[in-house]
Amino acid sequence: MKIREHYSLKALNTFGLDAKARYFCTLHKLSGVRTLMAWQQEHPDLPLLFLGGGSNMLFVNDYPGLVVQVRLETLEVLGQDTDYHYVRAGAGNNWHEFVRWTIDQGFAGLENLSLIPGTVGAAPMQNIGAYGVELKDHVYEVQALDWRTAEIRDFSVEECRFAYRDSYFKSVEPERWLIVAVVFRLPRQPQWKTDYAGVQEQLDGKVLDARSISDAIIHIRQSKLPDPAEIGNAGSFFKNPLISVAQWESLKAQFPAMPGWPQQQAVKISAGWLIDQCGWKGQREGDAGTHIKHALVLVNHGNASGTELWAFAQRIIASVQDKFGVTLEPEPRVL
Ligand SMILES: Cc1cc2nc3c(=O)[nH]c(=O)nc-3n(C[C@H](O)[C@H](O)[C@H](O)COP(=O)(O)OP(=O)(O)OC[C@H]3O[C@@H](n4cnc5c(N)ncnc54)[C@H](O)[C@@H]3O)c2cc1C
Repeated sequence: MKIREHYSLKALNTFGLDAKARYFCTLHKLSGVRTLMAWQQEHPDLPLLFLGGGSNMLFVNDYPGLVVQVRLETLEVLGQDTDYHYVRAGAGNNWHEFVRWTIDQGFAGLENLSLIPGTVGAAPMQNIGAYGVELKDHVYEVQALDWRTAEIRDFSVEECRFAYRDSYFKSVEPERWLIVAVVFRLPRQPQWKTDYAGVQEQLDGKVLDARSISDAIIHIRQSKLPDPAEIGNAGSFFKNPLISVAQWESLKAQFPAMPGWPQQQAVKISAGWLIDQCGWKGQREGDAGTHIKHALVLVNHGNASGTELWAFAQRIIASVQDKFGVTLEPEPRVL
């Protein structure tokens, strides 16, 4: 396995930032893990970073350790029982291509998650979600390799501790577990989720199935979200905050138009709305800015550095804190 030095990550992150990895390699086969572990023992102080498609990362600095690009690309149908089809996808598969492959097999369940950038292996990290569906709704188990022992463990959905944009792998033990594959269970009697804004309209007059819903979602996403190939971004930059019911009631009294969605003993509020109210939508400082249509999407207009983007994000965080007393948290990994 070739380990490169001072390797540019510019083409490997969707902000298009020219950060350098001190060391870099691509993992195509699991057999390469032992080689990497041996190499790491000779460099014990270097940090380790797993990289999928780089669509949920902001590189503020060069990365001082070893970046392992995960390209394990196996794909297989495991079988079925009375309720589900089971498929296993290697971590390195492109997420959207995998979703379309399941549809080609005649399987449903993942159609609402069409066109999310990135890889299968990163999807459990933040329990990706869109248009009323989250990854956890269709996961059977996550297969992950313990970087301390090289043993593979199967994590059940409960063990993954999936939550809103969160998981065990993201919050409890990052970098200990290399996700090698995800096993999905896809319902034989699908329940279509088409009540999200705009989806029904796209489906009018069409046969309702996984492919038509996937096509509708692709159409909506392409018309609304900036394409990283045209303008650098990582999708939503901030998580929707969860606040207490008491704080929600107090804010709602001051700002009656504020949208909110009750959760268990909390209320989820819209980060995009808060940012928009502070006047940040479409703002730009140098090449760092927010998207003209989406206050929530931080964009690189060309040559912004990671430091500039992060400083811009922090000004947004400060002004939302100031006006609403709510602390925004970034959704991507800031490195
Ligand atoms: C235009 C755009 C739209 C988006 N829309 C959505 C959306 O609708 N919903 C949503 O949830 N997200 C969305 N995202 C965010 C992003 O696409 C997802 O978080 C995606 O799952 C990231 O995949 P990736 O392979 O690019 O991960 P990366 O950015 O490479 O990595 C993300 C994290 O996962 C870790 N990681 C990656 N692979 C592995 C592995 N095999 N094992 C262990 N750890 C690993 C990394 O170390 C890092 O911590 C969007 C991003 C963009 C640019």
